Amino acid sequence: MKNKRSTRIFLACLLLTLTILACNQFVAEQKPPHDIATVPATDEASVTAMPEQPLEASAGSTGLGDSLYPDFGNGGYETTHYTLDMTINNISTSDLSAIVSIEANALQNLSSFNLDFVGFEINEITVNGESAEFERTESELTVYPSSAIAKDEAFTVIVQYAGSPEEMQSVALPVQTGWVTVDGGSFVMSEPDGSASFYPVNDHPLDKATYTFRVTVPVPLEVAANGVLTETINSGDTNTYIFEVRDPMASYLATINIDEFEIETSQSQTGVPIRDYYSSTLAEEYREPFARQPEMIDYFSEIFGPYPFEVYGSMLMDTEFGSALENQTLSIYGTDMIDLDNVEETELTVAHELSHQWFGDSVSVADWSDIWLNEGFATYSEGLWIEHTSGRESLDDWVKFIYSDVITYPEYYPAPGSPPADDLFNGGVYVRGGLLLHALRLEVGDENFFAILQTYFERYQGGNASTADFIAIAEEISAKDLSTFFDAWLFNEAIPSIPAMGLGVE
Ligand code: ZN
Repeated sequence: MKNKRSTRIFLACLLLTLTILACNQFVAEQKPPHDIATVPATDEASVTAMPEQPLEASAGSTGLGDSLYPDFGNGGYETTHYTLDMTINNISTSDLSAIVSIEANALQNLSSFNLDFVGFEINEITVNGESAEFERTESELTVYPSSAIAKDEAFTVIVQYAGSPEEMQSVALPVQTGWVTVDGGSFVMSEPDGSASFYPVNDHPLDKATYTFRVTVPVPLEVAANGVLTETINSGDTNTYIFEVRDPMASYLATINIDEFEIETSQSQTGVPIRDYYSSTLAEEYREPFARQPEMIDYFSEIFGPYPFEVYGSMLMDTEFGSALENQTLSIYGTDMIDLDNVEETELTVAHELSHQWFGDSVSVADWSDIWLNEGFATYSEGLWIEHTSGRESLDDWVKFIYSDVITYPEYYPAPGSPPADDLFNGGVYVRGGLLLHALRLEVGDENFFAILQTYFERYQGGNASTADFIAIAEEISAKDLSTFFDAWLFNEAIPSIPAMGLGVE
């Protein structure tokens, strides 16, 4: 019985992990620097008569310097809000016309800046209402505003484009990323690099922003996107759906999904509204593994801190894509992530994606090499859900089972602290990352351990954290030097032992 359960747990864990395997100097007008002390008040005329000095401006960088993906994102500015106004003209090709408006702040004097964007025909780009020149390579869009943007200035970029999203292969794992057109609809699954396949974006989790989605689709299709649905406008043959994401969101979590849906709503006891979207072609039994989401939200809120967003829900597309993704406020699953014969097992995947709302979505990685902070935490959250529903002994069995799997198949589980760029979502970041947290719990004790999780969430929610930030909190709360512990668990080629459980000791 136990073994069977462990095997099932293992299989689900494996399914989750393995399926994923499958300076231009530029001059512009500016007021002269004005040093009051040296300009006599009476000498006004000499100030105004001085020739205007040019603004020294340079190009924003083409990447944000991520250690694994240096070209992801762009420098020189930060975004605050995206409005994606899209009209889907043809559902079988996802042919669309879009007007994307980006609110941003300049972090330097900018002669030009980049966005990440792939495919489509761009019709026009304006910056602060003025038409701008642009240049494109495969994934970089360089915009040259007609006059330089001064540091600290807020500016608005509007990009108008049309076409069908191009199929895009992720650089981080062998799957199609971004906007995926399927029979009768489309879905979006972008982690880590797919967002540029459907909108121009500063595509790195360091630059979070709020979003408005305004998506028009032919009747009877419907739209499921992140955030709160604030309005639906019927215009005869089309429906327009408006969604607001009012909490800052990392770009890779933006999702727009189109299909005919059945929507089921519920609420957690702590008051979080839940709306789940199921492709209307799916049998009702597919809803079963999602039934305990309200309870999961309450449990995780209790142990991590209050659920960080306005709403939650899951979206199950009637298609197989070997993965699930924790899009902010709306996790997405392919039907192959659901085992109808094993609801308990599938619930672990549901708990995994939900826990990412705290760890991954609210607290996001500062660098993609910190991915274990997402996947290790979400994997351990599966264990915490087992503990909550079946007791500590069941958690221990699960820990023993996944530990033994690492020992048996070490090649699937590289050290979690340094994932390869082309295999970001490897078994190590999930399973060894999760086991690290259990080992930490045994090292510092339950009280410290949960205080560490809560402090980490409280301090970094809505922003970004690095592995060093997490270690600093663990050391602060436990009052222990944990450098040897973390070094071994993050970087040792072989998994460290857990002597307290007799694991990995001769
Ligand atoms: Zn995950």
